[in-house]
Amino acid sequence: MNNFKCPKCDAYLNICDQIVLAAENEIGQHGLILLHQELGNYTVDFHEKFNVTQGEKLKLYCPACHKNLTSHKTDELAHIVMEDEDGTPFEIHFSKTKGEEATYKIEGKSVEYYGISHPKYLNFFNLSAIK
Ligand SMILES: [Zn+2]
Repeated sequence: MNNFKCPKCDAYLNICDQIVLAAENEIGQHGLILLHQELGNYTVDFHEKFNVTQGEKLKLYCPACHKNLTSHKTDELAHIVMEDEDGTPFEIHFSKTKGEEATYKIEGKSVEYYGISHPKYLNFFNLSAIK
């Protein structure tokens, strides 16, 4: 099973099949969101009173250390670490915008991508795309 960690404090972010993140929407409301931990599965859960509308760009934070998880590639993406069964770490970058399906997994000099929106940010990865 893969594990997901905060790149800043190393906290494990996945519980059961979901990745727990702290979020802030465009009107400054705070809440928690649950992402599916399978890459390319865009099922997202959040409290019904935490309003996240389609096309809204969230600020995402580590729920353990509260550091901003914005990607160093672009402000449009968030960055977390995935560890595979062997403990090998990979950078995972994904869109912070609700409804935008774009995920990138960096493997050495190449990038594996998921989601129908992936062409939008592929140019931020100066790598050869596989898959
Ligand atoms: Zn953290």
